[in-house]
Amino acid sequence: MHRTIFHVDMDAFYASVEQRDHPAYGGKPVIVGADPKGGQGRGVVAACSYEARKFGIHSAMPISKAFQLCPKGIYLRPNFKKYTEVSREIRTIFHCFTDLIEPLSIDEAFLDMCHAVQDEKTALQVAQSLKHRIFQEQQLTSSIGIAPSKFVAKIASDLKKPNGLVLVCSDEVQSFLDPLPISRLWGVGPKTAARLSEMGIKTILQLRHFDKLDLVQRFGKLGEHLWKLSNGIDNRPVVEDREPKSIGHETTFSEDVLDNHVLEQTLERLSKSVSERLRKRELSAKTVNLKLRYSDFTTITRQTTLREPLESASDIYSVAQRLLRRFRDPSRKIRLIGVSVSSLESALSLAFPRQMKLFE
Ligand SMILES: [Mg+2]
Repeated sequence: MHRTIFHVDMDAFYASVEQRDHPAYGGKPVIVGADPKGGQGRGVVAACSYEARKFGIHSAMPISKAFQLCPKGIYLRPNFKKYTEVSREIRTIFHCFTDLIEPLSIDEAFLDMCHAVQDEKTALQVAQSLKHRIFQEQQLTSSIGIAPSKFVAKIASDLKKPNGLVLVCSDEVQSFLDPLPISRLWGVGPKTAARLSEMGIKTILQLRHFDKLDLVQRFGKLGEHLWKLSNGIDNRPVVEDREPKSIGHETTFSEDVLDNHVLEQTLERLSKSVSERLRKRELSAKTVNLKLRYSDFTTITRQTTLREPLESASDIYSVAQRLLRRFRDPSRKIRLIGVSVSSLESALSLAFPRQMKLFE
């Protein structure tokens, strides 16, 4: 069966978030990681901006080495709480495109788009709108690789960074892979690369022309795995994340909004989407969260936990609406509004008689 898989990878994620939130860091070498302590620091670079990469800095490099290369860089400690929150918001955007999502790390994920796109032209358009949506809501760039398999999609997303978009059609997989160095393959670390190199194998083309049995004799299971990958064979499915901890929808207005009526209408629509997804998964929720982002990017979240779970759109909306009326500063314009539910449980408990007691 023909598959369409997206690999979405945020560009220089931690560093980009810091540059976004501190305009003074824009266009400057930003290095997120351990404290360099004037070149004496221990620990490594977690992420660095593209400006920092021009100095030869890369992630996982010792922070002392980075400091040698660029003593005037902006060195920051990571703010994982913030990155996790941004990651969660990006995940919410993914969910508008597909529910079949396999996160690989805080800033990258596979999306199975088999049901969302019919052909390659549509795939490109959908990927573009996903990139656009992430940028519009987060002011962060991402790179997407589109391919019939996970490993080709992952290679593709990396090729045109930053802000890249690379489509590899099913009949182009082999010509795409052949010229690449073997280090691009999953499972080829420096040691394996050195061994393959001694055998005269430097490119994927050379690897796939090598005798399969010979590879298996030399490398065991890894040999067979590499032979398959070099021939473009990778049928691993996109494996969905475990049960979600929360389900939410949010929207960024094209122009910041002051009008309460518009906010409430939007909230009602978002509550409906949340309820639909809850029902699809046969879940109900005890906690309703409201998120507001003002035009200056300050963000507040407020939540209410109920005694009894709920799942209907009108119940979710009525709780969210009360949070909005209670906590919103009506003098400030809103850039983004969102509603999510958490403390999820199986909706089967709803079959039992219950009395909903709001705000208890
Ligand atoms: Mg990344």
